[in-house]
Formats: sequence, structure tokens, C-alpha cells
Amino acid sequence: MRADLVDPLLSGNKYFKLKPNVEAARRAGLSTLLSFGGPWSNHLHALAAAGQRFGFNTIGVVRGAAPAELNACLQDAASWGMRLHFVSRNDYQHRDEPDFLAALKQVFGEYYLIPEGGANLEGILGCRELAAAIPPKTFSRLLLACGTGTTLAGLITAADVPVTGIQVLKGAGYLQREVNEMLAKYDLSPTVAWEMLDEFHGGGYARADPLLLDFCNAFTSETGVPLEPVYSGKLFFAIADLLARGHFARGSHLLAIHGGGLQGLRGFGMSR
Ligand SMILES: *Cc1c(COP(=O)(O)O)cnc(C)c1O
Repeated sequence: MRADLVDPLLSGNKYFKLKPNVEAARRAGLSTLLSFGGPWSNHLHALAAAGQRFGFNTIGVVRGAAPAELNACLQDAASWGMRLHFVSRNDYQHRDEPDFLAALKQVFGEYYLIPEGGANLEGILGCRELAAAIPPKTFSRLLLACGTGTTLAGLITAADVPVTGIQVLKGAGYLQREVNEMLAKYDLSPTVAWEMLDEFHGGGYARADPLLLDFCNAFTSETGVPLEPVYSGKLFFAIADLLARGHFARGSHLLAIHGGGLQGLRGFGMSR
């Protein structure tokens, strides 16, 4: 499923996570959206585009010192009106704490807070729309790449077939635990069986593993479907590996959800 094609700027699953957040901000009468991300964040990139499109001010709190020159991702965000606020890696770790958030209010005034990656209840509920877009009784399993697990949380509480998540960050079993905590926090229950596979991180988040980059290039030349190595590349790499190992029952109809994020290719000196 080409969620990367849902919108040219509000890419992939970010569109689904941001839409209900924008609506909640509007209901709350707030005109500024603030969120967090790294310098190549697909989330901040999409948030800046959403702000421009729907008439909100946006503030991107970016992890790490201000660079001498903005990268292509942050240039886009700034050109769409996002104010960029750089914080040290150390300060960034406090991004969910009340004191840190209050200090940001001192600087920027009142804002509607969206957690990093759009990982809140609105984000989860928005991703249920993604499930609703899948034709019923056509597929026997959905597969997707997971960062915060928000998209998966939306799918497993709305889909009618099992779901496999591919964890792109390193850390045995941690994301499965976090998804369970997220479901408990918002009092949501899965409607289907699901699994989170933690062995396909390829060395860690956004590591440019040469094997993975080769896989992405070969896949794109064979199929015409662009992949980036942070999420979708790991997803299709994992699927190829799982198929080779017979992980899925014969005759399974797999639906892989391409979450977009192709702007990030520029961080690897590649283009779509
Ligand atoms: C953000 C992103 C994901 C991860 O989504 P989560 O809801 O955080 O798990 C997957 N793929 C792409 C392309 C993304 O940009």
C-alpha cells in the first residue's frame, strides 16, 4: 500500500497522525503547533507542511546544536514557515517533562503540543483511517515499519487481519513493551493478533548499512518503488528475509504499508 503517495508533502503515515492533532488544536483555539524531532525528521517536515496548509504557526524543536547551514529537510521546514529551535542532545532528553515544556511556553507563548513522532492518542486514532482504507477480505496480514509504534497501535486496534511490525531502532523487545504501555494508557485493546520483530534494525536508527542501501537500490530498480533506508528499506528487507525463512504460511496475502518519508533520502545523498 503506497501511503507514500497519499500526499506529496504530508508524507505517508505522518498525514494520518497529524490530521486529528490539527483538528484538536483548532478545537482548543490554539494557532501554534509545537513538536520535536531530529534534523532529518519526517515528522517535523510533515508538520511544517501541515502548518502552512492549514494555517497554523509551527515550531520545530530540533535535537542537536544549530548547524552552520540547514540541511534540505530543515530548509523545507523553514521555507514553509516553521520556526526552528535547536536544543542540545542532553536537553532534548527532557522533551516530555513539564518544566521543559513550560520553559518553551515562556519563549513561544501558548502552543498545542504534539509529542515526537506524533505519538499520542490523536495520532493513534488517525492511523485507524489507514486501516479503513484497506479493502476488506483481500489480505491475510499487514506489515509496516515502526519507529514510535503509533501507526501500528492504530492499525491493531482497527484492522481485521494480523499485523507484523518491524522495529527500526535497536533494543530487544522494547517497542513491543512500549506499544502495550501506549494501549494501556489510552485504554485501547487490539482487535487482531500482532507481533513486533526486533531483529531488523540493521545496526540502529538511520544507520546507513551498505547491505541495506544496496537492497534499497536493487528493489527500486526492479520494482520502480522508491525506498529509504530508515523505515521502508528495513521493512522490505525484513519481508524478503522472512519469506526466505518461511515465516508466513504458504498462500498468505501480505500487504506492506509504505510509510513515505522519502524526503529523508536526501540525508543519504540519494534521491527518489
Ligand atoms: C515515522 C515513520 C514511520 C514510523 O511510524 P511510527 O508511527 O512512529 O511507528 C515509518 N515509516 C516512515 C516512512 C516514517 O516516516
